[in-house]
Formats: sequence, C-alpha cells, structure tokens
Amino acid sequence: MAYTITDECIQCLACIPECSSNAISEKDGLVVIDAALCTECGSCADVCPVGAPQKL
Ligand code: SF4
Repeated sequence: MAYTITDECIQCLACIPECSSNAISEKDGLVVIDAALCTECGSCADVCPVGAPQKL
C-alpha cells in the first residue's frame, strides 16, 4: 500500500526532494504521491512537519 498525502499537508514541499522514487509532485496547489511509483520507504513521512503522508 502506497503512502497518501492527507489533508494535513501545508504544501511546504519539503518531501518532494526527499523522495528517491520521484513519486511526489505538486500540481494545482496540492502535493500528491504517485502510488505506482511509491516504494513505501517512508522518507516523506520522516521529513514532513505535520505527519501528512500516511499509509491509509
Ligand atoms: Fe505536505 Fe508534509 Fe510534503 Fe510538506 S512535507 S509538502 S506538509 S506532505
């Protein structure tokens, strides 16, 4: 199950460069994870200040 960025996200963009799979992108003001690319490494969750990336 891939990580999903929940509504807690404040669009700080800190997670984007941390993702070694390049699975995270910003589009139309929302930060999203491509589930097809996510390897569940947890790097985004580690760097996120608000705990937005979660495995739902
Ligand atoms: Fe959103 Fe957290 Fe990523 Fe910042 S690090 S863009 S708050 S998910």
